[in-house]
Amino acid sequence: APVILWFRHDLRLADNPALNQAHATGRAIVPVYIHDEGSAVRPAGGASLWWLDKSLRALSASIGERGGRLILRRGDSEAELRRLIEETGAESVFMNRLFEPDASTRDSDIAHGLKAEGVECRGFNGSLLCRPGGVLNGSGGPYKVFTPFMKTLRAQAEPPAHTTGPRDLSGAPRLDSDRIDDWGLHPSRPDWSGGFDWTPGEAGAVEALQTFIGRGLKTYSKGRDHPAEPGASRLSPHLHWGEISPSRVWSAVVAAGEAGKVPAAEAEKFIAEIGWREFSAHLLHHFPALPERAFRPEYDDFPWLTDRKGFDAWTKGLTGYPIVDAGMRQLWVTGWMHNRVRMIVASFLIKDLLIDWRKGEAWFWDTLVDADLASNAQNWQWVAGSGADASPYFRIFNPVSQGERFDKDGDYVRKWVPELAKTPAKWIHAPWTAPAEVLREAGVTLGDTYPKPIVDHAMARDRALAALKEVSGRGR
Ligand code: FAD
Repeated sequence: APVILWFRHDLRLADNPALNQAHATGRAIVPVYIHDEGSAVRPAGGASLWWLDKSLRALSASIGERGGRLILRRGDSEAELRRLIEETGAESVFMNRLFEPDASTRDSDIAHGLKAEGVECRGFNGSLLCRPGGVLNGSGGPYKVFTPFMKTLRAQAEPPAHTTGPRDLSGAPRLDSDRIDDWGLHPSRPDWSGGFDWTPGEAGAVEALQTFIGRGLKTYSKGRDHPAEPGASRLSPHLHWGEISPSRVWSAVVAAGEAGKVPAAEAEKFIAEIGWREFSAHLLHHFPALPERAFRPEYDDFPWLTDRKGFDAWTKGLTGYPIVDAGMRQLWVTGWMHNRVRMIVASFLIKDLLIDWRKGEAWFWDTLVDADLASNAQNWQWVAGSGADASPYFRIFNPVSQGERFDKDGDYVRKWVPELAKTPAKWIHAPWTAPAEVLREAGVTLGDTYPKPIVDHAMARDRALAALKEVSGRGR
């Protein structure tokens, strides 16, 4: 009887523990992807579905090249698995585990149900360096602070040797499969293929890693903060969908540092970011309500404003603060936003507009190609000040000085907010301070071609500080 290999967030053939283990059984492998929209797991957003569509096509092609066929089914995961078991006579289902609490509970339920009928379900860790629950502090509890977590993770992580997966995937019984075109995953508006040359799939992931090691990694610690520069890896959607394993990324970067190809400190800085990805996943495991509730409960009493107009302006990139608007438009066009700018736009929503971080988290969930339950929630709570090891409440990003510091020449703003393209760098981050003739020459009419600021930052800062001080004081 063949083994069913259930693909989820591990859309790759290399370094895939479930695939390697399925191959080790010596049985034929039936590779399957089930598009399950009705389960207890939070449904993927629009940008994620766009990515999934492309990534599944890539996976299907690589399986085809090795003589196999990816079977696509749509519906309830358990019902579809049962159907496949019946059709193939399979006695085992292998998968890489999902660690998000709801998904993990669903998987356990499925495994128990199938086990009762004599079908073995085996789960592996293909998405994290260390299994959540496996990195604990001296008293056996979860870490709530990043630095000691990272130290332990570093000591424990033992990236396995690189594997390319079985060369021959032929021999599975013939089965019906849906056609991916019929799933309609690809939204036409927005079409996230614009703006960046995304190449979803395993080959694109490996290429992104190699390009980054050859270019950005050398100067990562500084380059990663400048949104106009290609200083970051843009590996996040590839990692989220499991097109490349974090172990491979980690090993390749550590090796580049050890071989002296890049300064060791740069490699170290990048490894720490991979560490933040792990920290987020581990936190979500220990605190399953992280996407819905403040980690520091006193923040759940915060008097958020219902500012529909403000929220709408934020989503559309029409706040009148150029760096915020550039970020929100980059997100809309490309499905990705630079990390520095993610922090600025999140701080603006939460602290300048006093809008609940959960509204921002939901918008990101729908529009990011790397939308990730753990990383998104952890980072939104970091900015809000309500998270574990969060930014202190009184840290309020000034969108003008952040722009001046990290987009000094204004190139990032010019790219994403073309109506300001002719504005000189001196005023591009605060066009309302520019002399009238400068604006005239740049073809900018505030309130017409580009909005005036929707809120006064100095006023908003004082308002937020007062409210946040009160709330954070209650937690002591
Ligand atoms: P690089 O700088 O090249 O970093 C390499 C990898 O490290 C990333 O691909 C990512 O996997 C990981 N990483 C880097 N920074 C972080 C971080 N702060 N937290 C967790 N992992 C990190 N990242 C997501 O993957 N999904 C999200 O949904 C997400 N939402 C975010 C929301 C907010 C408000 C903020 C401030 C950050 C969010 N991030 C999220 C983290 C970070 O912005 C992205 O991981 C990063 O910008 C991705 O680009 P990159 O691959 O070029 O990053």
